[in-house]
Amino acid sequence: MSVNCPQCQKDDNIRKVSSVVTGGISTGSYSGPTYSSTYVGEGKYHESYGHSTLNGSTVQEFSRLLAPPAPPKRATTGCVNIIILLFITGTGLFCAANTAPFALMGGRSDGSGVFGLIACALTLGIGFGTFILAKRFLADSNKGVANANKDYPDRLAAWEKQITKWNRLYLCFRDDIVFDPETGKSVPPQLLNELLADQ
Ligand SMILES: [Zn+2]
Repeated sequence: MSVNCPQCQKDDNIRKVSSVVTGGISTGSYSGPTYSSTYVGEGKYHESYGHSTLNGSTVQEFSRLLAPPAPPKRATTGCVNIIILLFITGTGLFCAANTAPFALMGGRSDGSGVFGLIACALTLGIGFGTFILAKRFLADSNKGVANANKDYPDRLAAWEKQITKWNRLYLCFRDDIVFDPETGKSVPPQLLNELLADQ
């Protein structure tokens, strides 16, 4: 299948978008045949063919503009939050467990046992309270993640469509356009997303 640019109707200065992006990053330059047509008046055009090299920054600019759309991300539970909450809960319960025997022993000999009991009850309360909060937080967090992931299959399907389209796009260096050989639609490289979104 021969592919022609929908604007200049030629195929001598086009390159696949995917190869510009991958090639642009590794080689940093594009060289190939170029063609220019200048109107010289009286219905005549001066045509010239040549070979030119686009410098690295031009190609890198194209690579940046023409990068494929990023895949959709799955929402995940905040791991750090869980670790922190479990740590606090664990510390609370550990303190309570350690204080309890002293409080019980102290209660027998003199009045200081009362403070021990209070301390024990407080640490137990804090430990248990944190545990409840942590559990509730985790439940909410999981629900939020599940909600956020509800449309993940749709987002993934839409992205796969865009990638399929992206893979068949061409760039015409002469006209500075990106085009889809299947639909004949073209846009400036800056508007690549619009071309991809247009299903
Ligand atoms: Zn063209």
